[in-house]
Amino acid sequence: MTARPLTTIGFDADDTLWQNEHYYRLTEEHFSSLLADFADGAKISERLLEAEKRNLAHYGFGIKGFTLSMIETAIEITEGKVPSSVISKILDTGRDLLSHPVETLPHVRETLETLAGKYLLVLITKGDLFDQERKLAQSGLGDFFDAVEIVSDKTAVTYRRIFSKVGDGPERAMMVGNSLKSDIVPAIAAGSYGVFVPHELTWVLERVEEPKDAPRFRKIDHLGELHGLIDGLH
Ligand SMILES: [Mg+2]
Repeated sequence: MTARPLTTIGFDADDTLWQNEHYYRLTEEHFSSLLADFADGAKISERLLEAEKRNLAHYGFGIKGFTLSMIETAIEITEGKVPSSVISKILDTGRDLLSHPVETLPHVRETLETLAGKYLLVLITKGDLFDQERKLAQSGLGDFFDAVEIVSDKTAVTYRRIFSKVGDGPERAMMVGNSLKSDIVPAIAAGSYGVFVPHELTWVLERVEEPKDAPRFRKIDHLGELHGLIDGLH
């Protein structure tokens, strides 16, 4: 009997299983409105993105780092004149982001239901630990997963480690997600399948070109197409 070509499936969480970027965009709009007297929206967005990029190395991904980046941007844009009442509102808007409702994306639940038990399912996400744990609990999807890995970054090394620990190695694993940069390109580099499920809102720092000449790269329109794709591999 030949070994099963696929035993383990990794799922990204934010904007793959549930909405995320949408709430960041709303927060950024609110942040921008707080500084409307000092600069226009485009300028504020540009400076905020620069701050986020700088700060990734210090704080990693997630809401806490994003909140600190907003404060830093407010200080810069106002040349140090930002009133403490505005800083307070920025802190509030960051905290609101930590309690947004968890809205699962179409086809997620039935897809996980179909695959659970047949494959080892692993949730692999980066971001704030508390926030990701909260979202997983509120999503009601936790029981479908055999393992949950909340990591500081997603590289080929990350996927090799997780798929060797949870499954039978990266060659018999697949990663499914909305970020080419974090979910797909490094998983393929690790030797796994990478299934790209684009989301209409994807953070600019997560965007890269689709991999070329990668036989293990796949793209689907929504998670409802995943089961058929997997059947085609056997
Ligand atoms: Mg994502």
